[in-house]
Amino acid sequence: MNEKVEKPIGLAARPTRPQEFYDNVKRKFAEERDLRLKYRPDGTAQYTSDLSGELAHYEVDPYGGEVTPRAPINDTVECLFIGGGFSALLTSARLREYGVESIRIVERGADVGGTWYWNRYPGVACDVVAYDYLPLLDELDYVPKNHYSRGPEIFAHCQAIAKKYNLYELATFQTTVTSTVWNEAEQMWHIATDRGDRMKARFVICANGTLSKPKLAKIKGLETFKGHSFHTSRWDYAYTKPDLSGLEDKVVGIIGTGATAVQAIPGLGAAAKELYVFQRTPSSIDIRDDWPTDPNWARRLPKGWQARRRALARMEPQMSEAQKAKQAAMSHEEKVRFQENANIEAMMKIHQRIDSIVKDKATAEALKPWYMLMCKRPCFHNDYLPTFNRPNVHLVDTHGKGITEINEKGPVFEGKQYELDVLIYATGFEVQKTGIYNEIRGVNGLELNDKYRDGIRTLLGIHSQGYPNLFIMGGYQASFQFNLTDMLQAQGDHIAACIDYARRHGYQSLDATPAAEEWWVQEVIEHRGKTGRNQECTPGYYNFEGEFQRRQDGNYNGGFFQYCNHLTEVRARMESNFTFKSKPLSSD
Ligand code: NDP
Repeated sequence: MNEKVEKPIGLAARPTRPQEFYDNVKRKFAEERDLRLKYRPDGTAQYTSDLSGELAHYEVDPYGGEVTPRAPINDTVECLFIGGGFSALLTSARLREYGVESIRIVERGADVGGTWYWNRYPGVACDVVAYDYLPLLDELDYVPKNHYSRGPEIFAHCQAIAKKYNLYELATFQTTVTSTVWNEAEQMWHIATDRGDRMKARFVICANGTLSKPKLAKIKGLETFKGHSFHTSRWDYAYTKPDLSGLEDKVVGIIGTGATAVQAIPGLGAAAKELYVFQRTPSSIDIRDDWPTDPNWARRLPKGWQARRRALARMEPQMSEAQKAKQAAMSHEEKVRFQENANIEAMMKIHQRIDSIVKDKATAEALKPWYMLMCKRPCFHNDYLPTFNRPNVHLVDTHGKGITEINEKGPVFEGKQYELDVLIYATGFEVQKTGIYNEIRGVNGLELNDKYRDGIRTLLGIHSQGYPNLFIMGGYQASFQFNLTDMLQAQGDHIAACIDYARRHGYQSLDATPAAEEWWVQEVIEHRGKTGRNQECTPGYYNFEGEFQRRQDGNYNGGFFQYCNHLTEVRARMESNFTFKSKPLSSD
């Protein structure tokens, strides 16, 4: 099926060196982490996603064109999605299968697609195998073009899903939901938007995405820069030109070296007159084993092939009898040490790969990540490291400190001025927040994020008691899954089944019981407490930039297989996990 390619290093590396070697590397990991924690004691507060005032242009949609005037909408729908990315598309597809007709997507962008609408930076692609990542392939009778899909193909797939399930009919684009308020008498949500709409919906699904609101590092003087600047999720192709030829005579800077920057930098390096990469912590760069899909393989795929593939991926990992016996003979400490040593071996292979590709020794050293693999999101790219061999590409390694000052000419680091024409922020997104741009008020008028003040409280990361008929997708307290669409599909299937249950039983609303919610909060806490791994990691958004005390404000760590089991179990006892109301109080 595929041409011969180098295989990714992954985590499959056997520890074979004396323990002293691994202990020394662990010590270096700890030193590097402590250095970063010292530089950023403000944790998540080092960033801002309040892009208003002077920073407002960082959030303006460069793709949607003029906002077309329209009359405010004052109607009622059955299901309303806040956000039009994969969460909304996957859940809507299932709702249609249950016969739900009245579905509206309200979306800030000018089309569906979510992440794939906003992220159009050069080189944008997905690191999860396309045959797994692109959902509803059986339903749409589509086979992705490559082992890994590029952004435009995924965006087009989102549009194809919306067309197939008639989701454009009631959708409202370039519209931001600003408040979502429960009306107990009507058993309805009242939804207001920035376009003056006053809509009502029986069910509301918060499908606003896991990483959707761009954030900037709070860097002194950032707003004084006189050159051109933008965030990677708002790529200014009018300035760079679609083929980046607009950068031919430009000195370009990029802040950040996460998964986005790793994909954008090779194109920028090839196009810009000069490129400065401002690095705080390097990413781990593994091999990307990509290939075009073999048309003969695609033709032979049996009906329902993706559903079977997904079912296999959701199965509990099986161990052979020999593996089980080996595990049983090891103490807990020995198992932990074995895993850590294997992880360090994998990271050393990542280091060796850097040495074999990057010619300048100092640059190669600076590109080496010193933390356990998976502490930060691993990256896969074949052109990123070679880009640093180009004479016009310069790595500015800030040794964990980061850029702390920008003036009208550009960033300043250790007294050196970097004079730029354009500065690109690859500084990421606000993480897994429910109700961005929007305030959500439940039965007692309490805003959802106020309820969460002392810790997030949900059932399965989806329901929160006091917010009937509200469903949260992609938020905290749900399972983490590298293939996000599989996770979103599991949640979407659950939500559609809950809505179908309420409709079939003539219920107007369902709300998680306090007991069910408390059970889940304790499950999340118990599983999060099992490992100190996050605390030992270099800071990043995976561990709240080092804010370790956040016990329940994270993902459920019991594993995706177990999470899916819990979804099924909760639905098997709907009447004990939820309270239901049969008709609106106003019709009594
Ligand atoms: P990230 O949050 O992962 O990266 C932000 C980057 O900005 C980090 O390198 C951070 O450094 C750096 N940074 C922050 N402040 C400063 C500063 N003052 N000076 C210098 N550098 C600074 O954002 P991304 O947009 O890269 O990625 C977000 C997520 O989106 C990914 O983790 C992934 O889940 C998803 N994604 C997936 C892709 C794929 O499938 N390949 C592609 C793109 C994104 P530090 O590391 O020190 O904090």
